[in-house]
Amino acid sequence: MNSLIIFTETGYLQSIIATLVFFIICGIFFYINQSKTGYIKGAGYLITALIIDFVTVWFEYNMEQISANVSLKILMSVSLLMRLLIMILLATTATKTMLDQSESNKIVGIATFIGCICIIYFNIISSNGTAINVFHNLFPAIGFAYLAAAFFTKCFRRHKSGALLGCIITGIITASLAIHISNEENFISQPWYTGIIGYVGLGMTLLLLIVDTQEDTLDKLNQKLNKYDIRIKEMVKLSPFPIVIARLSDDSILSANDNFLKLFGLKSKDIHNYRFRDFFVDADNRRLLNAHLEREQVIQDFEILVKAPESTTPFWLSTSANIIDYDYNPALYAAFQDITDRKKREDILQNQATRDPLTSLYNRRFFEEEVNRRIAQHPEDEFSVFMIDADHFKNVNDTYGHKIGDKVLIALAQTAEKALRENDIVARYGGEEFVVYLNKSNAQEAKLVADRLREAISEIIVYSDANEEIKFTVSIGIASSQETQDLNKLIKMSDDALYKAKEGGRNRCEIYQGDKMPEQPETEKNEKDEENIHPAFSKSNNIEISLLGGILPNPEDIHK
Ligand code: GH3
Ligand code: MG
Ligand code: MG
Repeated sequence: MNSLIIFTETGYLQSIIATLVFFIICGIFFYINQSKTGYIKGAGYLITALIIDFVTVWFEYNMEQISANVSLKILMSVSLLMRLLIMILLATTATKTMLDQSESNKIVGIATFIGCICIIYFNIISSNGTAINVFHNLFPAIGFAYLAAAFFTKCFRRHKSGALLGCIITGIITASLAIHISNEENFISQPWYTGIIGYVGLGMTLLLLIVDTQEDTLDKLNQKLNKYDIRIKEMVKLSPFPIVIARLSDDSILSANDNFLKLFGLKSKDIHNYRFRDFFVDADNRRLLNAHLEREQVIQDFEILVKAPESTTPFWLSTSANIIDYDYNPALYAAFQDITDRKKREDILQNQATRDPLTSLYNRRFFEEEVNRRIAQHPEDEFSVFMIDADHFKNVNDTYGHKIGDKVLIALAQTAEKALRENDIVARYGGEEFVVYLNKSNAQEAKLVADRLREAISEIIVYSDANEEIKFTVSIGIASSQETQDLNKLIKMSDDALYKAKEGGRNRCEIYQGDKMPEQPETEKNEKDEENIHPAFSKSNNIEISLLGGILPNPEDIHK
């Protein structure tokens, strides 16, 4: 306080310090109101209380010197007002940091009002010296007692070191002030630094209180997390859908509900031996799911083909998944729905749209769409088209019945499909006609393939209801992209070539050669036709049937 006494000797320094204090207080209040955190506000009010306390003590030490100019009564009132202000600031510290705001604001308001009335009454109206002395220490004592009570309310938490220290410090300060209340002699009895020690102690207490509160918050968060974990586990268990939770880092299964175990035929004790990827048929499918998850964080109705680890039978699931925190692990939470039946129905519908129901070959519409797509995709590629037509097929129907005719068509289709490469396409064009797209082949290469196919077909044996062997042949017309890239025109050209093959005697292949259709003499044509009697004739132990002209007796039977 000595230094402050020196200041008072020059009015000049006095006014500078008063201005500085004023601005510091303004700054602190500005900062306090900016801040959203209760503890920063509380600390701000506490520092303000400290400054005002400091100024008050300084003011009281110098009151006699100042009173030369101003009435002592007024100076005493100012001093008491400052003490009242300290009380308000201490109480506000408690309010902002520890107490229920609205309730304690009311209490502070009422106490302030009563304090003001007391100052006016005892200091100005009645001038009761004892009463003034009492209030001098009573105001800060009430402030500290209020703060002590606030600390006390926080002494029952798990983390209470700050509250306990605060309670002790404020308790001691309150007690020492209370002693001075009854001691009339000690109007200015404390050494000037006691206030500072008290306030620094309280500042540290506030810091401790912040740490305690943070730990409390952490405790609460942990409790919440535990509850959340328990809730997730319950939800997983009770869900009507199969659910699995797999750790993201190594794909190991952390949890799976009964429906998941049932779906994959597993026992709950074994589930932890598996990784989620073990259930996937296709590793790419698994990678795709992960890539999608990484991008979107959540997945809806993602179709996966899975199998039980001990089985080879695949089935389709639709999965919805997202990433969760499970037992402090980032994990994949996936729920499933069995869509095998739906997939089957979709496949059937797809097949119905693209396949011929009798032979299961592609239908004409799919053939045209697919070939046109390939032409558009690779216009530089060479390709050939050929048209296959069963020879004298009407006779098969007429002789053995429509059902056996169907059987012949199925056998023909299977042979054609087997004889061709993966990138070729064979389709049923209609009736007993089939069309083939031969990938990357010119007309000559196509002819080799067609001849091989024709021969393979002529080897087929189909049995009638009476167990008779039935053999048959086809004629093939070929056109290649050397002529045109227009599929319709190529089909028409191969049809022309087919006509030529039929005309040329059947069971043969012809390449389209412009409009140079060879003129065949009637007689030659007939000879060829006769040569091309149904190969069933070659089987001596059968009743041989000419698809040209009906049933002929078996030559051996004739000899008998
Ligand atoms: P060609 O050697 O000149 O081709 O003689 P073809 O008898 O084969 O020719 P045609 O066009 O006169 O007869 C085709 C027959 O194919 C007529 C039809 O009853 C039969 N057919 C068409 N579609 C089917 C089918 O799905 N099942 C059966 N069984 N027969 C069919
Ligand atoms: Mg035909
Ligand atoms: Mg025919």
